Amino acid sequence: MKVTKAEIVISAVSKKQYPEDGLPEIALAGRSNVGKSSFINKLIQRKNLARTSSKPGKTQTLNFYRINDAFYFVDVPGYGYAKVSKKEREKWGQMMEEYFRFRETLRAVLLITDIRHEPTKDDVQMYDYLKYYEIPVVIIATKLDKIPKNKRDSFVKRTRTVLQADPQDVLIPFSAETGEGKEAAWSAIEKYLA
Ligand code: GDP
Repeated sequence: MKVTKAEIVISAVSKKQYPEDGLPEIALAGRSNVGKSSFINKLIQRKNLARTSSKPGKTQTLNFYRINDAFYFVDVPGYGYAKVSKKEREKWGQMMEEYFRFRETLRAVLLITDIRHEPTKDDVQMYDYLKYYEIPVVIIATKLDKIPKNKRDSFVKRTRTVLQADPQDVLIPFSAETGEGKEAAWSAIEKYLA
């Protein structure tokens, strides 16, 4: 997809603030700091529209990025950040529930994992959750540039195995650094926008 327009429309803390224009949405879920913002920025060719940071746990809002006035990327707050209080974690859970379970315009979720590591318990839980609610999932295994080429196949396989991923689910090895996987990611996304 050629992106000619990309704008952040709202950083929402509750469902009252979600956009109401009915455009389809592709959400991104993943551990804090896994590379969700970098993924968005790479796909839309902007250096810094989505806020990236090396400090995990920063984004506690649902960020809606409207792309080409055609659909939204929805960046969901990352999970698995140890230094949050129980109360904050509960608030996070409620936000997730409000969005993933009831959002009618949600078409698919990109589950972003770090290809260097085994998916965490939280990753597995997130995957199971999406499956349970029958939300289409595309797995994006990012930071591909950080592993040697001869490890790729085995790391992809490990990601699938640990997630117990449905063989029908697409997994795309990706790097925000080199742009590898970008075209594959766009084709996967476009299928859900058609
Ligand atoms: P978020 O919290 O999930 O939005 O993660 P960010 O996009 O802010 O990325 C967290 C850190 O990982 C930043 O320092 C990024 O530069 C780095 N990062 C993200 N994606 C990649 C990638 O594909 N390759 C490399 N080498 N670093 C990445």
